[in-house]
Amino acid sequence: MKFEYAPAPESRATAEIAPSYGLFVDGGFREAADGRTFKTVSPATEEVLSEVALGGEADVDAAVAAARAAFPAWSALPGAERAKYLFRIARLVQERARELAVLETLDNGKPIRETRDTDLPLVAAHFFYYAGWADKLAHAGFGPNPRPLGVAGQIIPWNFPLLMLAWKIAPALATGNTVVLKPAETTPLTALRFAAICQQAGLPKGVVNIVTGDGTTGAALAAHPGVDKVAFTGSTSVGRAIARSLAGTGRRLSLELGGKAANIVFDDAPLDQAVEGVVNGIFFNQGHVCCAGSRLLVQESVAEELLARLKRRVGTLRLGDPLDKNTDIGAINSPEQLARIRELADAGDAEGASRWTAPCELPSTGYWFPPTLFTGVTQAHRIAREEIFGPVLSVLTFRTPDEAVAKANNTPYGLSAGVWTEKGSRILWMAQRLRAGVVWSNTFNRFDPTSPFGGYQESGYGREGGRHGLEPYLDV
Ligand code: NAD
Repeated sequence: MKFEYAPAPESRATAEIAPSYGLFVDGGFREAADGRTFKTVSPATEEVLSEVALGGEADVDAAVAAARAAFPAWSALPGAERAKYLFRIARLVQERARELAVLETLDNGKPIRETRDTDLPLVAAHFFYYAGWADKLAHAGFGPNPRPLGVAGQIIPWNFPLLMLAWKIAPALATGNTVVLKPAETTPLTALRFAAICQQAGLPKGVVNIVTGDGTTGAALAAHPGVDKVAFTGSTSVGRAIARSLAGTGRRLSLELGGKAANIVFDDAPLDQAVEGVVNGIFFNQGHVCCAGSRLLVQESVAEELLARLKRRVGTLRLGDPLDKNTDIGAINSPEQLARIRELADAGDAEGASRWTAPCELPSTGYWFPPTLFTGVTQAHRIAREEIFGPVLSVLTFRTPDEAVAKANNTPYGLSAGVWTEKGSRILWMAQRLRAGVVWSNTFNRFDPTSPFGGYQESGYGREGGRHGLEPYLDV
Protein backbone atom coordinates (compact mmCIF):
# COMPACT_ATOMS: atom_id res chain seq x y z
CA MET A 1 0.00 0.00 0.00
CA LYS A 2 1.18 3.51 -0.72
CA PHE A 3 -0.22 6.60 0.96
CA GLU A 4 0.43 10.13 -0.20
CA TYR A 5 -0.12 13.54 1.27
CA ALA A 6 -0.04 17.11 -0.07
CA PRO A 7 -1.30 17.67 -3.60
CA ALA A 8 1.58 19.92 -4.72
CA PRO A 9 4.03 17.59 -6.52
CA GLU A 10 7.12 19.28 -5.09
CA SER A 11 6.01 18.65 -1.52
CA ARG A 12 4.67 15.12 -1.93
CA ALA A 13 5.68 12.64 0.74
CA THR A 14 4.71 9.02 0.79
CA ALA A 15 4.88 6.14 3.19
CA GLU A 16 5.03 2.57 2.04
CA ILE A 17 3.10 0.25 4.33
CA ALA A 18 3.49 -3.51 4.00
CA PRO A 19 0.34 -5.64 4.35
CA SER A 20 1.87 -7.29 7.42
CA TYR A 21 4.69 -6.80 9.91
CA GLY A 22 6.53 -9.09 12.28
CA LEU A 23 8.16 -8.47 15.65
CA PHE A 24 11.72 -7.12 15.70
CA VAL A 25 13.80 -9.52 17.78
CA ASP A 26 17.56 -10.07 17.74
CA GLY A 27 18.07 -7.82 14.73
CA GLY A 28 15.44 -9.41 12.47
CA PHE A 29 11.71 -9.44 11.85
CA ARG A 30 9.71 -12.57 12.69
CA GLU A 31 6.15 -13.74 13.19
CA ALA A 32 4.76 -14.23 16.68
CA ALA A 33 5.55 -17.71 18.04
CA ASP A 34 1.87 -18.64 18.04
CA GLY A 35 1.16 -16.79 14.78
CA ARG A 36 -1.30 -14.33 16.30
CA THR A 37 -1.78 -10.89 14.70
CA PHE A 38 -3.84 -7.73 15.15
CA LYS A 39 -4.96 -5.05 12.70
CA THR A 40 -3.88 -1.44 12.90
CA VAL A 41 -6.39 1.03 11.51
CA SER A 42 -6.35 4.63 10.31
CA PRO A 43 -8.53 6.47 12.84
CA ALA A 44 -9.41 9.08 10.20
CA THR A 45 -10.81 6.60 7.66
CA GLU A 46 -11.21 3.31 9.56
CA GLU A 47 -9.17 1.72 6.78
CA VAL A 48 -6.95 -1.22 7.83
CA LEU A 49 -3.35 -0.10 7.35
CA SER A 50 -1.59 -3.35 8.17
CA GLU A 51 -1.71 -6.59 10.12
CA VAL A 52 0.88 -6.76 12.88
CA ALA A 53 2.28 -9.63 14.96
CA LEU A 54 0.79 -9.91 18.44
CA GLY A 55 3.61 -10.84 20.79
CA GLY A 56 2.95 -13.43 23.49
CA GLU A 57 4.98 -14.67 26.44
CA ALA A 58 7.30 -16.75 24.24
CA ASP A 59 8.07 -13.71 22.10
CA VAL A 60 8.74 -11.51 25.12
CA ASP A 61 11.01 -14.27 26.39
CA ALA A 62 12.93 -14.38 23.10
CA ALA A 63 13.26 -10.57 23.00
CA VAL A 64 14.50 -10.38 26.59
CA ALA A 65 16.99 -13.19 25.89
CA ALA A 66 18.28 -11.30 22.82
CA ALA A 67 18.61 -8.08 24.83
CA ARG A 68 20.40 -9.94 27.61
CA ALA A 69 22.83 -11.56 25.16
CA ALA A 70 23.58 -8.17 23.57
CA PHE A 71 24.11 -6.40 26.90
CA PRO A 72 27.73 -7.35 27.77
CA ALA A 73 29.20 -6.16 24.47
CA TRP A 74 26.98 -3.07 24.21
CA SER A 75 27.65 -1.91 27.76
CA ALA A 76 31.39 -2.55 27.36
CA LEU A 77 31.65 -0.30 24.29
CA PRO A 78 33.35 3.03 25.01
CA GLY A 79 30.72 5.77 25.33
CA ALA A 80 32.04 7.49 22.23
CA GLU A 81 31.36 4.33 20.19
CA ARG A 82 27.80 4.02 21.48
CA ALA A 83 27.35 7.71 20.65
CA LYS A 84 28.23 7.04 17.00
CA TYR A 85 25.24 4.69 16.69
CA LEU A 86 22.92 7.22 18.35
CA PHE A 87 24.14 10.03 16.09
CA ARG A 88 23.63 7.75 13.09
CA ILE A 89 20.07 6.94 14.20
CA ALA A 90 19.36 10.66 14.74
CA ARG A 91 20.56 11.51 11.25
CA LEU A 92 18.54 8.68 9.68
CA VAL A 93 15.43 9.91 11.51
CA GLN A 94 16.06 13.35 10.00
CA GLU A 95 16.61 11.93 6.53
CA ARG A 96 13.46 9.84 6.74
CA ALA A 97 11.42 12.44 8.65
CA ARG A 98 8.74 13.00 5.99
CA GLU A 99 8.10 9.26 5.58
CA LEU A 100 7.94 8.83 9.38
CA ALA A 101 5.63 11.83 9.74
CA VAL A 102 3.18 10.48 7.16
CA LEU A 103 3.25 7.04 8.77
CA GLU A 104 2.65 8.49 12.24
CA THR A 105 -0.22 10.64 11.01
CA LEU A 106 -1.84 7.68 9.24
CA ASP A 107 -1.61 5.37 12.25
CA ASN A 108 -2.36 7.92 14.99
CA GLY A 109 -4.74 10.41 13.31
CA LYS A 110 -2.83 13.52 14.39
CA PRO A 111 -2.36 16.41 11.92
CA ILE A 112 0.63 16.14 9.57
CA ARG A 113 1.65 19.67 10.56
CA GLU A 114 2.23 18.42 14.11
CA THR A 115 4.09 15.24 13.19
CA ARG A 116 6.22 17.16 10.70
CA ASP A 117 6.93 20.29 12.77
CA THR A 118 6.86 18.96 16.35
CA ASP A 119 7.10 15.18 16.76
CA LEU A 120 9.81 14.35 14.21
CA PRO A 121 12.19 17.23 14.99
CA LEU A 122 11.92 16.33 18.69
CA VAL A 123 12.56 12.63 18.00
CA ALA A 124 15.81 13.47 16.20
CA ALA A 125 16.73 16.05 18.87
CA HIS A 126 16.40 13.42 21.63
CA PHE A 127 18.78 11.06 19.88
CA PHE A 128 21.27 13.87 19.20
CA TYR A 129 21.02 15.09 22.79
CA TYR A 130 21.56 11.68 24.46
CA ALA A 131 24.27 10.76 21.95
CA GLY A 132 26.12 13.73 23.43
CA TRP A 133 25.90 12.25 26.93
CA ALA A 134 27.15 8.76 26.06
CA ASP A 135 30.86 9.56 26.53
CA LYS A 136 30.33 12.02 29.41
CA LEU A 137 28.53 9.85 31.96
CA ALA A 138 31.43 10.03 34.39
CA HIS A 139 30.92 13.81 34.42
CA ALA A 140 27.15 13.77 34.83
CA GLY A 141 27.26 14.08 38.59
CA PHE A 142 26.44 10.43 39.33
CA GLY A 143 29.90 9.52 40.59
CA PRO A 144 32.98 8.44 38.61
CA ASN A 145 31.65 5.09 37.40
CA PRO A 146 27.87 4.99 36.84
CA ARG A 147 26.88 1.58 35.45
CA PRO A 148 23.94 0.58 33.21
CA LEU A 149 21.20 -1.55 34.77
CA GLY A 150 20.93 -4.22 32.06
CA VAL A 151 17.76 -4.89 30.06
CA ALA A 152 15.13 -2.13 30.02
CA GLY A 153 11.50 -3.15 29.39
CA GLN A 154 9.71 -0.10 27.98
CA ILE A 155 5.97 0.26 27.45
CA ILE A 156 4.60 3.28 25.63
CA PRO A 157 1.21 4.81 24.72
CA TRP A 158 -0.32 5.89 21.43
CA ASN A 159 -0.45 9.68 21.78
CA PHE A 160 3.15 10.39 20.66
CA PRO A 161 4.21 6.95 19.41
CA LEU A 162 7.63 7.73 17.96
CA LEU A 163 8.44 10.56 20.37
CA MET A 164 7.72 8.38 23.41
CA LEU A 165 9.92 5.71 21.84
CA ALA A 166 12.72 8.28 21.53
CA TRP A 167 12.23 9.44 25.15
CA LYS A 168 12.65 5.82 26.23
CA ILE A 169 15.24 4.36 23.87
CA ALA A 170 17.72 7.27 23.54
CA PRO A 171 18.71 7.54 27.24
CA ALA A 172 18.66 3.75 27.69
CA LEU A 173 21.12 3.17 24.85
CA ALA A 174 23.32 6.16 25.74
CA THR A 175 23.81 4.73 29.24
CA GLY A 176 24.69 1.25 27.90
CA ASN A 177 21.43 -0.61 28.53
CA THR A 178 19.69 -2.81 25.97
CA VAL A 179 15.99 -2.54 25.27
CA VAL A 180 12.75 -4.42 24.71
CA LEU A 181 10.05 -1.91 23.79
CA LYS A 182 6.32 -2.50 23.41
CA PRO A 183 4.43 0.11 21.37
CA ALA A 184 0.71 0.75 21.89
CA GLU A 185 -1.66 -1.57 20.04
CA THR A 186 -3.26 1.23 18.00
CA THR A 187 0.04 2.77 16.82
CA PRO A 188 2.71 0.13 16.12
CA LEU A 189 3.88 1.27 12.67
CA THR A 190 6.49 3.95 13.41
CA ALA A 191 8.16 1.77 16.05
CA LEU A 192 8.54 -0.97 13.43
CA ARG A 193 9.93 1.56 10.94
CA PHE A 194 12.33 2.63 13.68
CA ALA A 195 13.44 -1.00 13.93
CA ALA A 196 14.35 -0.84 10.24
CA ILE A 197 16.31 2.34 10.98
CA CYS A 198 18.25 0.45 13.67
CA GLN A 199 19.15 -2.13 11.03
CA GLN A 200 20.14 0.62 8.60
CA ALA A 201 22.34 2.20 11.30
CA GLY A 202 24.10 -1.13 11.81
CA LEU A 203 23.09 -1.27 15.47
CA PRO A 204 24.32 -4.61 16.88
CA LYS A 205 21.52 -7.20 16.94
CA GLY A 206 19.59 -7.53 20.20
CA VAL A 207 20.39 -4.01 21.45
CA VAL A 208 16.89 -2.84 20.48
CA ASN A 209 13.95 -5.25 20.25
CA ILE A 210 10.38 -4.18 19.41
CA VAL A 211 7.58 -6.50 20.52
CA THR A 212 4.22 -5.33 19.22
CA GLY A 213 1.02 -6.42 20.94
CA ASP A 214 -1.64 -5.40 23.43
CA GLY A 215 -1.91 -5.08 27.22
CA THR A 216 -1.17 -8.78 27.72
CA THR A 217 2.13 -8.33 25.86
CA GLY A 218 2.92 -5.31 28.06
CA ALA A 219 2.05 -7.24 31.22
CA ALA A 220 4.33 -10.13 30.16
CA LEU A 221 7.18 -7.70 29.56
CA ALA A 222 6.72 -5.85 32.87
CA ALA A 223 6.57 -9.13 34.79
CA HIS A 224 9.55 -10.77 33.04
CA PRO A 225 12.29 -11.63 35.55
CA GLY A 226 14.98 -10.93 32.93
CA VAL A 227 14.02 -7.26 32.78
CA ASP A 228 16.09 -5.12 35.16
CA LYS A 229 14.20 -1.89 34.70
CA VAL A 230 10.66 -1.11 33.60
CA ALA A 231 9.76 2.29 32.13
CA PHE A 232 6.06 2.88 31.54
CA THR A 233 4.03 5.76 30.10
CA GLY A 234 0.26 5.46 30.00
CA SER A 235 -2.78 5.37 32.24
CA THR A 236 -2.61 5.65 36.01
CA SER A 237 -4.53 2.39 36.46
CA VAL A 238 -2.06 0.33 34.41
CA GLY A 239 0.86 2.17 36.06
CA ARG A 240 -0.49 1.13 39.46
CA ALA A 241 -0.86 -2.49 38.38
CA ILE A 242 2.76 -2.54 37.13
CA ALA A 243 4.02 -0.94 40.37
CA ARG A 244 2.20 -3.68 42.33
CA SER A 245 3.67 -6.45 40.18
CA LEU A 246 7.22 -5.09 40.69
CA ALA A 247 6.91 -4.46 44.42
CA GLY A 248 9.57 -6.35 46.36
CA THR A 249 11.41 -7.65 43.28
CA GLY A 250 14.21 -5.08 43.48
CA ARG A 251 13.70 -4.28 39.80
CA ARG A 252 13.60 -0.57 39.00
CA LEU A 253 10.54 1.31 37.76
CA SER A 254 9.78 4.74 36.37
CA LEU A 255 6.21 5.84 35.62
CA GLU A 256 4.85 8.70 33.54
CA LEU A 257 1.09 8.74 34.00
CA GLY A 258 -1.81 11.14 33.55
CA GLY A 259 -2.44 14.77 34.30
CA LYS A 260 -5.10 17.43 34.74
CA ALA A 261 -3.09 20.59 34.24
CA ALA A 262 -4.33 24.07 35.07
CA ASN A 263 -3.64 26.86 32.61
CA ILE A 264 -3.96 29.97 34.80
CA VAL A 265 -4.71 33.35 33.20
CA PHE A 266 -4.36 36.51 35.33
CA ASP A 267 -6.08 39.77 34.47
CA ASP A 268 -2.83 41.45 33.47
CA ALA A 269 -1.92 38.77 30.89
CA PRO A 270 -1.71 39.71 27.21
CA LEU A 271 -5.07 38.16 26.35
CA ASP A 272 -4.53 37.32 22.69
CA GLN A 273 -1.29 35.56 23.53
CA ALA A 274 -3.04 33.74 26.38
CA VAL A 275 -5.82 32.63 24.01
CA GLU A 276 -3.22 31.09 21.67
CA GLY A 277 -1.62 29.35 24.65
CA VAL A 278 -4.94 28.01 25.91
CA VAL A 279 -5.83 26.72 22.43
CA ASN A 280 -2.44 25.08 22.02
CA GLY A 281 -2.67 23.75 25.59
CA ILE A 282 -5.85 21.76 25.04
CA PHE A 283 -6.27 21.26 21.28
CA PHE A 284 -2.71 20.29 20.33
CA ASN A 285 -2.83 16.60 19.37
CA GLN A 286 -6.64 16.55 19.97
CA GLY A 287 -5.92 16.91 23.68
CA HIS A 288 -4.28 13.46 23.71
CA VAL A 289 -1.50 14.90 25.83
CA CYS A 290 -0.69 13.94 29.41
CA CYS A 291 0.36 17.52 30.19
CA ALA A 292 -2.59 19.11 28.31
CA GLY A 293 -3.93 22.34 29.83
CA SER A 294 -7.31 20.73 30.33
CA ARG A 295 -8.47 23.11 33.07
CA LEU A 296 -8.55 26.82 32.27
CA LEU A 297 -8.45 28.92 35.45
CA VAL A 298 -9.22 32.52 34.50
CA GLN A 299 -9.35 35.54 36.79
CA GLU A 300 -12.96 36.65 37.17
CA SER A 301 -12.43 40.22 35.96
CA VAL A 302 -11.28 39.07 32.50
CA ALA A 303 -13.23 35.81 32.23
CA GLU A 304 -15.96 37.11 29.95
CA GLU A 305 -13.56 38.86 27.58
CA LEU A 306 -11.18 35.90 27.44
CA LEU A 307 -13.98 33.44 26.75
CA ALA A 308 -15.37 35.57 23.94
CA ARG A 309 -11.95 35.72 22.29
CA LEU A 310 -11.35 32.03 22.94
CA LYS A 311 -14.60 30.98 21.25
CA ARG A 312 -13.81 33.19 18.25
CA ARG A 313 -10.39 31.57 17.93
CA VAL A 314 -11.59 28.00 18.46
CA GLY A 315 -14.23 28.62 15.81
CA THR A 316 -11.44 29.07 13.24
CA LEU A 317 -9.77 25.70 13.90
CA ARG A 318 -9.96 23.33 10.97
CA LEU A 319 -10.93 19.76 11.77
CA GLY A 320 -10.52 17.01 9.19
CA ASP A 321 -8.10 15.03 7.03
CA PRO A 322 -4.95 14.66 9.15
CA LEU A 323 -2.84 14.42 5.97
CA ASP A 324 -3.94 17.91 4.88
CA LYS A 325 -1.27 20.35 6.03
CA ASN A 326 -3.94 22.99 6.85
CA THR A 327 -5.67 20.73 9.38
CA ASP A 328 -5.53 21.81 13.05
CA ILE A 329 -7.59 19.04 14.66
CA GLY A 330 -7.19 15.44 13.55
CA ALA A 331 -8.97 12.22 14.47
CA ILE A 332 -9.41 10.66 17.90
CA ASN A 333 -7.05 7.72 18.08
CA SER A 334 -9.52 4.88 18.69
CA PRO A 335 -13.21 4.13 19.19
CA GLU A 336 -12.41 3.28 22.84
CA GLN A 337 -10.86 6.69 23.42
CA LEU A 338 -13.77 8.39 21.64
CA ALA A 339 -16.21 6.56 23.93
CA ARG A 340 -14.22 7.71 26.99
CA ILE A 341 -14.30 11.34 25.84
CA ARG A 342 -18.03 11.17 25.11
CA GLU A 343 -18.76 9.60 28.48
CA LEU A 344 -16.93 12.35 30.38
CA ALA A 345 -18.43 15.15 28.27
CA ASP A 346 -21.90 13.70 28.93
CA ALA A 347 -21.07 13.70 32.65
CA GLY A 348 -20.29 17.41 32.29
CA ASP A 349 -23.81 17.99 30.92
CA ALA A 350 -25.42 15.80 33.57
CA GLU A 351 -23.60 17.55 36.41
CA GLY A 352 -24.79 20.97 35.23
CA ALA A 353 -21.88 22.53 33.31
CA SER A 354 -22.64 24.33 30.02
CA ARG A 355 -21.24 22.84 26.85
CA TRP A 356 -20.09 24.93 23.88
CA THR A 357 -19.03 23.14 20.71
CA ALA A 358 -17.01 24.69 17.91
CA PRO A 359 -19.10 24.94 14.73
CA CYS A 360 -17.51 22.29 12.52
CA GLU A 361 -18.68 19.37 10.46
CA LEU A 362 -17.43 15.95 11.47
CA PRO A 363 -16.41 13.53 8.67
CA SER A 364 -18.80 10.63 8.26
CA THR A 365 -16.18 7.90 8.69
CA GLY A 366 -13.44 7.74 11.32
CA TYR A 367 -13.40 8.78 14.97
CA TRP A 368 -13.96 12.48 15.65
CA PHE A 369 -14.80 14.82 18.49
CA PRO A 370 -15.23 18.58 17.98
CA PRO A 371 -13.32 21.18 20.04
CA THR A 372 -15.46 21.68 23.13
CA LEU A 373 -15.54 24.12 26.06
CA PHE A 374 -17.41 23.65 29.33
CA THR A 375 -18.21 26.73 31.43
CA GLY A 376 -19.93 26.84 34.81
CA VAL A 377 -17.61 24.05 35.94
CA THR A 378 -17.09 23.48 39.66
CA GLN A 379 -14.23 21.61 41.29
CA ALA A 380 -16.60 18.78 42.21
CA HIS A 381 -17.46 18.02 38.58
CA ARG A 382 -15.89 14.95 37.03
CA ILE A 383 -14.72 17.05 34.06
CA ALA A 384 -12.68 19.16 36.52
CA ARG A 385 -11.12 16.12 38.22
CA GLU A 386 -10.68 13.32 35.70
CA GLU A 387 -8.33 13.20 32.74
CA ILE A 388 -10.44 13.40 29.57
CA PHE A 389 -7.54 13.01 27.12
CA GLY A 390 -9.52 14.71 24.37
CA PRO A 391 -10.30 18.16 22.91
CA VAL A 392 -12.42 19.24 25.90
CA LEU A 393 -11.60 22.26 28.07
CA SER A 394 -13.12 22.81 31.52
CA VAL A 395 -13.28 26.50 32.45
CA LEU A 396 -13.20 27.65 36.08
CA THR A 397 -12.65 31.13 37.53
CA PHE A 398 -10.75 32.58 40.50
CA ARG A 399 -10.42 35.94 42.26
CA THR A 400 -7.03 35.91 44.04
CA PRO A 401 -3.64 34.29 43.39
CA ASP A 402 -4.13 32.15 46.52
CA GLU A 403 -7.41 30.87 45.18
CA ALA A 404 -5.74 30.11 41.81
CA VAL A 405 -3.04 28.05 43.54
CA ALA A 406 -5.57 26.19 45.69
CA LYS A 407 -7.72 25.30 42.69
CA ALA A 408 -4.76 24.38 40.48
CA ASN A 409 -3.36 22.06 43.16
CA ASN A 410 -6.73 20.48 43.88
CA THR A 411 -6.03 17.38 41.80
CA PRO A 412 -4.56 13.94 42.41
CA TYR A 413 -2.17 14.63 39.51
CA GLY A 414 0.74 17.08 39.23
CA LEU A 415 2.41 16.95 35.84
CA SER A 416 2.29 20.48 34.47
CA ALA A 417 0.77 23.96 34.80
CA GLY A 418 0.73 27.24 32.88
CA VAL A 419 0.81 30.79 34.23
CA TRP A 420 -0.13 33.81 32.12
CA THR A 421 0.78 37.20 33.58
CA GLU A 422 2.97 40.24 32.81
CA LYS A 423 4.46 40.20 36.34
CA GLY A 424 7.73 38.30 36.65
CA SER A 425 7.46 38.24 40.45
CA ARG A 426 4.05 36.58 40.21
CA ILE A 427 5.40 33.89 37.89
CA LEU A 428 8.04 32.99 40.49
CA TRP A 429 5.52 33.17 43.34
CA MET A 430 3.19 30.80 41.46
CA ALA A 431 5.96 28.43 40.37
CA GLN A 432 7.00 27.94 43.99
CA ARG A 433 3.47 27.02 45.02
CA LEU A 434 2.18 24.94 42.10
CA ARG A 435 2.61 21.23 42.68
CA ALA A 436 3.52 20.36 39.10
CA GLY A 437 6.65 18.86 37.54
CA VAL A 438 6.67 21.46 34.76
CA VAL A 439 5.46 25.05 35.06
CA TRP A 440 5.30 27.03 31.81
CA SER A 441 4.93 30.77 31.90
CA ASN A 442 3.39 32.70 29.02
CA THR A 443 3.71 29.58 26.88
CA PHE A 444 2.45 25.98 27.00
CA ASN A 445 3.35 22.52 25.69
CA ARG A 446 6.97 23.44 25.01
CA PHE A 447 9.35 20.49 25.01
CA ASP A 448 13.08 20.30 24.81
CA PRO A 449 15.38 17.29 25.22
CA THR A 450 17.58 19.20 27.69
CA SER A 451 14.70 19.76 30.09
CA PRO A 452 13.53 17.13 32.60
CA PHE A 453 9.85 16.14 32.44
CA GLY A 454 7.78 14.22 34.98
CA GLY A 455 5.20 14.55 37.69
CA TYR A 456 4.09 14.59 41.30
CA GLN A 457 1.56 12.32 43.00
CA GLU A 458 -0.54 10.20 40.61
CA SER A 459 1.30 11.63 37.60
CA GLY A 460 4.12 9.20 38.38
CA TYR A 461 7.77 9.30 39.34
CA GLY A 462 11.18 9.46 37.72
CA ARG A 463 12.19 12.09 35.18
CA GLU A 464 12.66 11.84 31.44
CA GLY A 465 14.73 14.34 29.47
CA GLY A 466 17.81 16.28 30.40
CA ARG A 467 20.60 15.03 32.64
CA HIS A 468 17.90 13.82 35.05
CA GLY A 469 16.68 11.42 32.36
CA LEU A 470 19.94 9.44 32.56
CA GLU A 471 19.49 8.51 36.19
CA PRO A 472 16.60 6.01 35.80
CA TYR A 473 18.92 3.93 33.58
CA LEU A 474 21.99 4.00 35.80
CA ASP A 475 23.16 2.26 38.92
CA VAL A 476 24.54 5.30 40.70
P1 NAD B 1 -2.98 2.18 28.78
O1 NAD B 1 -2.28 2.53 30.03
O2 NAD B 1 -3.96 1.07 28.81
O3 NAD B 1 -1.91 1.79 27.65
C1 NAD B 1 -0.57 2.27 27.61
C2 NAD B 1 0.35 1.12 27.22
O4 NAD B 1 0.33 0.12 28.23
C3 NAD B 1 -0.02 0.41 25.93
O5 NAD B 1 1.15 0.04 25.25
C4 NAD B 1 -0.76 -0.82 26.43
O6 NAD B 1 -0.74 -1.90 25.53
C5 NAD B 1 0.02 -1.15 27.68
N1 NAD B 1 -0.71 -1.93 28.67
C6 NAD B 1 -2.06 -2.04 28.84
N2 NAD B 1 -2.33 -2.84 29.89
C7 NAD B 1 -1.15 -3.23 30.40
C8 NAD B 1 -0.77 -4.04 31.51
N3 NAD B 1 -1.67 -4.61 32.30
N4 NAD B 1 0.55 -4.21 31.76
C9 NAD B 1 1.49 -3.64 30.99
N5 NAD B 1 1.18 -2.86 29.93
C10 NAD B 1 -0.12 -2.65 29.63
O7 NAD B 1 -3.63 3.48 28.21
P2 NAD B 1 -4.87 3.58 27.17
O8 NAD B 1 -5.91 2.56 27.42
O9 NAD B 1 -4.28 3.62 25.84
O10 NAD B 1 -5.42 4.98 27.59
C11 NAD B 1 -6.26 5.09 28.72
C12 NAD B 1 -6.11 6.43 29.38
O11 NAD B 1 -4.76 6.56 29.81
C13 NAD B 1 -6.32 7.61 28.48
O12 NAD B 1 -7.66 7.95 28.41
C14 NAD B 1 -5.51 8.65 29.18
O13 NAD B 1 -6.25 9.22 30.22
C15 NAD B 1 -4.36 7.90 29.77
N6 NAD B 1 -3.14 7.98 28.95
C16 NAD B 1 -2.10 8.71 29.40
C17 NAD B 1 -0.96 8.81 28.64
C18 NAD B 1 0.20 9.62 29.06
O14 NAD B 1 1.00 10.01 28.22
N7 NAD B 1 0.41 9.84 30.34
C19 NAD B 1 -0.88 8.18 27.41
C20 NAD B 1 -1.96 7.39 26.99
C21 NAD B 1 -3.07 7.31 27.78
